[in-house]
Amino acid sequence: MKTYKIAVIPGDGIGPEVINEGVKVLNKIAELDSSFKFDFTYFPWGCRFYTKHGKMMDDDGIDQLKEFDAIYLGAVGFPGVPDHISLWDLLLVIRKSFDQYVNLRPVKLLRGAHSALANTKNDDIDMLFIRENTEGEYSGAGDWLFKGQDNEVVLQNAVFSRKGTERIIRYAFEVARREGKTLTSISKANALNYSMVFWDEVFEEVSLDYPEVKTASYLVDAAAMLMITDPKRFEIVVTSNLFGDILTDVGAAIAGGIGLAAGANINPKRKYPSMFEPVHGSAPDIAGKDLSNPLATFWSASQMLDFFGYEEYGEVIVSGIEELLSTKELLTPDMGGTATTSEVGDKMVEIVTSQI
Ligand code: ATP
Ligand code: MG
Repeated sequence: MKTYKIAVIPGDGIGPEVINEGVKVLNKIAELDSSFKFDFTYFPWGCRFYTKHGKMMDDDGIDQLKEFDAIYLGAVGFPGVPDHISLWDLLLVIRKSFDQYVNLRPVKLLRGAHSALANTKNDDIDMLFIRENTEGEYSGAGDWLFKGQDNEVVLQNAVFSRKGTERIIRYAFEVARREGKTLTSISKANALNYSMVFWDEVFEEVSLDYPEVKTASYLVDAAAMLMITDPKRFEIVVTSNLFGDILTDVGAAIAGGIGLAAGANINPKRKYPSMFEPVHGSAPDIAGKDLSNPLATFWSASQMLDFFGYEEYGEVIVSGIEELLSTKELLTPDMGGTATTSEVGDKMVEIVTSQI
C-alpha cells in the first residue's frame, strides 16, 4: 500500500478548525481506497509558537519538512505579530526553500456559489491562475536608507531571473496545451520598463515552442477591469507574484468569496514537498467558535489529490462542495447558513462516502 507522508501545519486562528475537517475528509477517502493511505504529522508552528519561542518555526524546520510528500497548511497570522513576520518567516520561507515556484489558484464559479457579479453563469467564470511564486516583486530585496531623516529612501526591488520567468511561463503553456485552452499573460510593460518588458519577451519566446496554444496578453490594470466586465475571456492565466496575488483576490470575490478560495504551491519537479492551503487568513474575529468555513480547505485537499494523481477523488471533493452549496442545507454563516465547521465536515465525509 502506498503511504503519503503529509506534514500538517494547522497554524493560528481558524487554521486548526478548518484543517481538522480537511484531514477528516482526506482520511475517509484513503480509507475507502485500500491502495493508499495518509500518514499525518502535526507541526505546532505559527504565531502562537512565535509568542512562546520568538520564531515562527523550529530552526531546522525546513529540514524537518523536507522528507514529506506534501504540506497541508491552515492559516498563519495573529493580532500582535506583524504580518510581514508571519508571512516571511513561515509561508514564504517554505515556498522559496522548496522551490514551489508555481502557485495554482482556480477561479471557478462552482454550482451553487454566489458571485459578487450579478447575472453570472457558472460557465462564465472558469479560470486557472498560474502565479509565479518565488521571485518577482516578492524577492525580498531592497534597502531602507537614511531612516527617519528628511532624505529617507526605501527601495523594494523586483527580481525576474530568466530561469524563474521562463519556467513559470513554460509550465503555463504545458497546462494550456494539455487542456486545449487559451493562455493569457498579464504584465505591465508600459510602466515597468525592465521587468515587464522582459516578461513579455520571454512569453513571446516560449510561445514559439507551443504554436498550437492560443495566447492573449493584457496589462494588469485592463485585466483587473476585464475580470469584472468580461470574465469569460480568461481561461489559463500566467502572471507575476504581485499581480497574481492581487488578481486572485478579485478572483475570489467573483467566484464565491474568500471562504471558497484554494491555492496550491507546487514544486513541479517533486524534489521537495508541495504545499496546499486555503487562501484566507486566520480570521481571529471568528476563531474558536466553530463558525469557520472549511470549503476552501476541502478544495485545497482536492488539489493535493490531483497532485498525487487521484484526479477522480479530487473531482469527488469539488462536486461535493457544489452539492453543499446547491442544497444550502449545511453551510457556515459566511455562506448564509447556520451550520458549524464540524457539521460541514461531517456532511462532506458523508458525501465522499456515498461517491467512492
Ligand atoms: P490574517 O491576518 O491571518 O490574514 P485576517 O483576519 O486578515 O487574518 P482573512 O482570512 O484575510 O483573515 O479574512 C478576512 C475576514 O473574512 C475574516 O476576518 C473573516 O471574518 C472572514 N473569513 C475569512 N476566511 C473565512 C472562513 N474560512 N470562514 C468564515 N469566514 C472567513
Ligand atoms: Mg489577511
